[in-house]
Amino acid sequence: MDITERIAAAETQLAETFKTIAETALYNQEKVLRAFQNNKLAMRHFSPTNGYGYDDIGRDTLNRIFADVFATEAAIVSPSIASGTHALTLGLFGLLRPGDCLLSIAGMPYDTLEDVITGSGNGSLRDYGVQFECVALREQSFDFAAIEKKLQTHPKVVFIQRSRGYSWRNAFTVEDLAKAIALAKKISPQSIVVVDNCYGEFIETREPTDVGADVVIGSLIKNPGGGLAPTGGYLAGKAVYIEQIGYRLTAPGIGCEVGSYAASYRPFYQGVFMAPHVVSQALKTALLFAEVFRGLGYETLPARDGQIGDIICSIRFAAADQLIGFCQAIQKASPIDSFVVPEPWDMPGYAHPVIMAAGTFVQGASIELSADSPIKEPYIAYLQGGLTYEHGKLALTACLETLAHTA
Ligand SMILES: *Cc1c(COP(=O)(O)O)cnc(C)c1O
Repeated sequence: MDITERIAAAETQLAETFKTIAETALYNQEKVLRAFQNNKLAMRHFSPTNGYGYDDIGRDTLNRIFADVFATEAAIVSPSIASGTHALTLGLFGLLRPGDCLLSIAGMPYDTLEDVITGSGNGSLRDYGVQFECVALREQSFDFAAIEKKLQTHPKVVFIQRSRGYSWRNAFTVEDLAKAIALAKKISPQSIVVVDNCYGEFIETREPTDVGADVVIGSLIKNPGGGLAPTGGYLAGKAVYIEQIGYRLTAPGIGCEVGSYAASYRPFYQGVFMAPHVVSQALKTALLFAEVFRGLGYETLPARDGQIGDIICSIRFAAADQLIGFCQAIQKASPIDSFVVPEPWDMPGYAHPVIMAAGTFVQGASIELSADSPIKEPYIAYLQGGLTYEHGKLALTACLETLAHTA
């Protein structure tokens, strides 16, 4: 089979899944559209502000729209949030106090949170006297028996990472999360359930907050920014918790009353409006890569008819140089910096050198087609994003051509 035939065959295999993805996008598009209409969005909401930003209607309305989309009482959406890690840090520091316990029930949280939670002398949660407990996953799923036991200690925050991070597993579906959240609420109703929702937004018709999560947190240069938000993060959840987090975002007593933005809010609004569709394009791209590479004999995730909870495709390579070659091929297929050859480097917050291919309009935006991986065994490439499925397909073609030349 030549490359075109391989891709066409994979698309035939994926037809049913693609249909479901389109239906989900339609449902979520309507959800977002309703949020815009119910909040009477108008041109004036795009206007920049400066100084304190008192009564900044662009900011406040954007918060309201995210709250509606996630079916929560309140939300914070801010260009001052530098990354997903920053958003998660705000959430954790906003909710936890000295002596409290943070319990992660989906294994160790994302790599960059290690310094945040258990770092020493860097202003971590541990430095402020917050304890950390973790229940490892069992066969890539929740270890309900172990979780139930740990919940008896009534941790202040129960933390769940939805996406796979840098590990060989599928992301959790909302149904999976619903079970874990129900258990947490039953055994320890006072605990605040926080979900790291990075890469999970708009994958399904429901979000973690629809099944009982108290707070969801994510990055705007991933799914909900729709490829247009230039930076930022969001937190959505119960009003009491979002208020606490707001005091951490700015200052105690001031919270979300201040915060200006000297550029237009338009890309944030337009981004979340585009997000359901862009996520569908990224999902289709991930599934196509997984299907075609599986056909070539590689181990890949997700499976065609398996559970899908994020926009990532994992491909397992036999050796580091193959993994690096794959990421370099993705970079070469990018619209920006296609002539640059990415190399592994010691990125802040990561324990291993990481290679990152991201020839993106927004620096490092992984809702755009990108691939990354820590250089460690097993050699897994994590591919995600794609603003258009057409670009995903072209990149896959180019990637396969590169492989054919080096094989
Ligand atoms: C991307 C990501 C984060 C945050 O990463 P940043 O690079 O700081 O935006 C956290 N958790 C998960 C699961 C992620 O995928």
